[in-house]
Amino acid sequence: MAQAPVLTPRADDFPRWYQDLIAKAELADNGPVRGTMVVRPYGYGLWERMQQEMDARIKAAGAANAYFPLLIPQSYLAKEAEHVEGFAPELAVVTHAGGKELEEPVVVRPTSETIVNEYFSKWVQSYRDLPLLINQWANVVRWELRPRLFLRTTEFLWQEGHTAHATFEDARDYAARIHREVYADFLREVLAMDVVPGRKTGRERFAGAINTLTLEGMTGDGKALQLATSHELGQNFARAFDTRYLSKDGRQEYVWQTSWGSTTRMVGALVMMHGDDHGLRVPPRLAPVQAVVVAVKGDDAVLAEARRTGERLRAAGVRVHVDDRTDLPFGRRAVDWELKGVPVRIEIGPRDLADGTAVLVRRIRGSRRPVPSEALPALLPRMLEDDQALLLEESRRHRTDRTAEVTGIEEAVAAAGTGWARIPWDRLGPEGEARLAEQGVTVRCLVAADGSVPASEDQPGNVAVVARAY
Ligand code: AMP
Repeated sequence: MAQAPVLTPRADDFPRWYQDLIAKAELADNGPVRGTMVVRPYGYGLWERMQQEMDARIKAAGAANAYFPLLIPQSYLAKEAEHVEGFAPELAVVTHAGGKELEEPVVVRPTSETIVNEYFSKWVQSYRDLPLLINQWANVVRWELRPRLFLRTTEFLWQEGHTAHATFEDARDYAARIHREVYADFLREVLAMDVVPGRKTGRERFAGAINTLTLEGMTGDGKALQLATSHELGQNFARAFDTRYLSKDGRQEYVWQTSWGSTTRMVGALVMMHGDDHGLRVPPRLAPVQAVVVAVKGDDAVLAEARRTGERLRAAGVRVHVDDRTDLPFGRRAVDWELKGVPVRIEIGPRDLADGTAVLVRRIRGSRRPVPSEALPALLPRMLEDDQALLLEESRRHRTDRTAEVTGIEEAVAAAGTGWARIPWDRLGPEGEARLAEQGVTVRCLVAADGSVPASEDQPGNVAVVARAY
């Protein structure tokens, strides 16, 4: 009997497949208020692993964690003109509390530059207090009109970094360092995503920034996803909040600042970039569960062997879960682990036990073979690393195969039907960019001729990477 597919096939309806997968892999549910989400334990486990890996990189870059309030006086947002203009349409404003109308409405933070600056102004006195490097893990609210689970929710979880520096150069270098050593490194090395680093155009820049660095990833259907951004804020917020320091030569100077963020969107990106018709495929370095040992039947010897195998793998440094729910049909459990994308499944049944073997199923390659049980602890760590490398390589191939080099706007729009286009920026320019936008195609970023991040928008040789984006 042919089994009905568990998910809508990716090629039939990609957005529907995405929704199906999020539900069936038990990652999240829609919340009762439009655009909000309930993150289920397996989805949250993925986020927690992201937090661990990112937090270690953020700390290695010298920033320390702190926490600022969720509620911000509305007047703070009004202080930086571009910032308030950019965020006004997305703000949630509290006008009543404690049964009364508030004298001054407060906003639920959409991002924290304003309130952070208020306090940086108090904390920074002299050049000796700089650089000041802060990160916060928090939730933010942006009233999104077209929400999609994980990718664009009205409330999302994120980290936001905020720093103050004595010079333009120091701030510029730090924004670039975070972009490279925290975001690019994490996305490539842990999430196995072949992301493109670049610089946003003036049109796409963060509201209030003088420069925005981005990392863009290609989804399974050839669209683009902005995965993380690092901004140079110049002295815009420093002027608005009077954040000054006494320089070495005794003058009052405004600080130079950066801010940078990455969110629960990365969980959605995992699905959109590595998922297939059977479900999610989690990169082994990220996976909260790298190997699941499945007891096929509820007999005592099988259960004991499954638990023993789990112990031996744990001792070999593998993150293991033992599935001993033998009151559930084995087939259903197997499908469930496929959906969740656990990299390795080890199935142990009575026959395997007698042979001293186990069936090893590799989710990322889709292979299945019996192996001697004794060999597993030595085999697994290397296999997991091989599968990690394969995912990154697939991601690189997918992106290069679906990226076209073009010279005209019509060609770029055509290419954006199935993938990305690269077009010389001096042929496109802000006017061409506006024409593309009318057709739903945006400049995801500018990259320099040698693939590096351009030092300026008009640097000769810049190439615009254009695509439709989620
Ligand atoms: P920003 O503070 O605007 O630079 O946003 C930081 C990062 O948050 C962006 O690079 C996006 O990847 C992500 N992001 C923006 N809006 C949302 C949203 N509504 N839901 C989830 N992630 C978001």
